[in-house]
Amino acid sequence: MTLIPLIDAAACSAHGDCEDLAPEIFRLEDVAVVIGDGPDELMLAAAEACPSIAIRIIERESGLQVYP
Ligand code: SF4
Repeated sequence: MTLIPLIDAAACSAHGDCEDLAPEIFRLEDVAVVIGDGPDELMLAAAEACPSIAIRIIERESGLQVYP
């Protein structure tokens, strides 16, 4: 994995789309939390599916934000 997901808890509306798409990476508690790793493509797909744009995707080595 070269990407890291970061969840903005204040923006998360807790609908669970990220967990539905990538349950090995995200779990919905009061808000979504990151629980593990997964393929970059899946991580990006989950971020893009988030209706609240609450998932930022960071490139691990450079620290650059790749989404949104
Ligand atoms: S998809 Fe977005 S709004 Fe929905 S639970 Fe995940 S982080 Fe929160």
